[in-house]
Amino acid sequence: MRVWALPLALVALVSCVTQSVPRRQQARVHTAAARPVVIDPVMLAKRLRAMQPGWPRSRKFDCARLKCVALTFDDGPGEHTWRLLDLLRQRDVRATFFVIGQMVAADKGGRIVRRIVGDGHEIGNHSWSHPPLAELSHEALQKELKHTEDIVRRLTGVRMRVMRPPYGSTDDEVAAETRREGLAQILWSVDTLDWRDRVATTVARRAGEAKPGSIVLLHDIHRTTVEAVPALLDTLGRKGYTFVTVSELYGRTPAPGRTYTERAPTGR
Ligand SMILES: [Zn+2]
Repeated sequence: MRVWALPLALVALVSCVTQSVPRRQQARVHTAAARPVVIDPVMLAKRLRAMQPGWPRSRKFDCARLKCVALTFDDGPGEHTWRLLDLLRQRDVRATFFVIGQMVAADKGGRIVRRIVGDGHEIGNHSWSHPPLAELSHEALQKELKHTEDIVRRLTGVRMRVMRPPYGSTDDEVAAETRREGLAQILWSVDTLDWRDRVATTVARRAGEAKPGSIVLLHDIHRTTVEAVPALLDTLGRKGYTFVTVSELYGRTPAPGRTYTERAPTGR
């Protein structure tokens, strides 16, 4: 636990600082002696990676025994993501964020992705520009995955292990490429249709229909989805669900290239 505590403390520090000075590449932190210390996020990412390869580690849950559900948020980071992270932090809930490279690039200095990682959520690759991957040339497919991988790694130090193909568009070639890139393909078993029905109560009700082992599809770019989160956490919490990341749902890093839609009772 001690190895873990230091990087967490560092990230907590950086996320606090960047929250108050969002548009600066370099943040000034005042120490107890009130002497400013400059933290370079790129150097920090390098240090974190060196200290703990594979960081952040998953918590351990036995989802064969517990009622687990994995909430997943796609297409961000966006203007409502910070508020969502506040809501999840208040209730100590971890989720998985499938980010779009272009959105990460638009979030100057990577403030939101660094907080996603710092708060202990899992981060996954949702391509650079959200095309249907099965319709791309091999070269374009490689670029879509690689560019997002590169920017997330540069900003957070984390090497992603999971991806979600936009629209669920996948085929043998996408499977082969994700296998080469070390990414498992994560689909979903509960679709809240939150992009279509922008009504918080409807989104919360659909998410509340999750079964043990479900992977729930949500989009953090919609205000109504973020507004639905407290109610859906209440509903599922009352039913005794534990909220886990995708990797925690399976109790291990999912296998690169393989497609997952939920955790079946057999654990697959
Ligand atoms: Zn998407």
